[in-house]
Amino acid sequence: MEHPENDSQYTGLTVNSGVAQPPSVNPYMRRAKRKPLPSASELVEGIIKGDTTQLARAVTLVESLVPAHQAIAQEVIEKCLPHSGRSRRIGITGVPGAGKSTSIDSFGMHVIGQGHRLAVLAIDPSSERTKGSILGDKTRMEKLSVQDAAFIRPSPSAGSLGGVARKTRETIVLCEAAGYDTIFVETVGVGQSETAVHSMVDFFLLIQLAGTGDELQGIKRGIMEMADGIVINKADGDNIQRAQLAQAQFRSALHLFPTPPSGWTPKVLTYSGYYELGIAEVWQMIDEYFDFVRKNGYFETRRRQQSRYWMFETIDEQLRRHFYDNPDIARMLEEKERLVLSNRLSSFIAARDILDHYFSEK
Ligand code: GDP
Repeated sequence: MEHPENDSQYTGLTVNSGVAQPPSVNPYMRRAKRKPLPSASELVEGIIKGDTTQLARAVTLVESLVPAHQAIAQEVIEKCLPHSGRSRRIGITGVPGAGKSTSIDSFGMHVIGQGHRLAVLAIDPSSERTKGSILGDKTRMEKLSVQDAAFIRPSPSAGSLGGVARKTRETIVLCEAAGYDTIFVETVGVGQSETAVHSMVDFFLLIQLAGTGDELQGIKRGIMEMADGIVINKADGDNIQRAQLAQAQFRSALHLFPTPPSGWTPKVLTYSGYYELGIAEVWQMIDEYFDFVRKNGYFETRRRQQSRYWMFETIDEQLRRHFYDNPDIARMLEEKERLVLSNRLSSFIAARDILDHYFSEK
């Protein structure tokens, strides 16, 4: 359109017509639609059919902190419960570098080779999604990750250990309902997470390395006591003799422990996860264990105890979350913490004030 200032009364000025301004947004680009949340029954139906996409979606909801997601997740779990419980749950621990991923890859291929379906889960409260989880990362299990019979899921992202562990435990239920009859739960053998894993598995495998002769020193007694089997990895090449020596040392160390409540004396074996030596023997030991505890009734006892443990754990966790997520409480905590730190208020009075406020709220 002709510009009004091009009129002859505005001498000395011309206004050139410019180019039409292109729209800032591509009109051909359609807005990506948000996928609607799946319904619980849709997910359950998929899971029971063994549909891994639906299983993965459900696990994502289990891990989510969004209340709407949690509500669906809890419904899915409840509906899957009658279809769960029929797997062998095996916990695997060992310090970083012990060869957990390499071993899980080899053990897993062995298990799948016997016609089983395997889910590999992890508990690693230190991991954060953004940094890439240390555990359960698919690339670490090259052989397994391309198998249809294997479902690999990294650890839920960082949070309280109880929270991360509960999510993994709920994921076990979903995997079992999806037909996975063997579950591996991996954890780094350096902290409290072994206790959490121990409380959700039937068999606890401790992966060790032959060291310089003082290998027993670094191992926490508690972890040894929890183990139903100790396996010394990297028994290959020059390392075979050292692995055997470590085996003898572990065996004699185990004599000092009382017989565990299962009545099963933990076995110590050597193997090589990388060269796949001794894998079948490790597996045979695990088979023997399951036969043993199924016969003497400990299998059921342990699962019942675990159910009770998780009831209390879940209550503890939810109470804590309800308390700390309360915005009033968060504000009060900050204020009282400052007063306590500067010695202007005693910790007991601070705690009482905050709790009084919490309990008086309705
Ligand atoms: P993770 O940290 O416990 O998961 O340990 P990895 O599975 O990542 O293994 C740590 C290192 O040990 C890697 O370089 C592996 O290649 C090596 N490794 C694992 N298993 C064996 C084994 O059986 N023999 C030998 N020689 N090396 C192994």
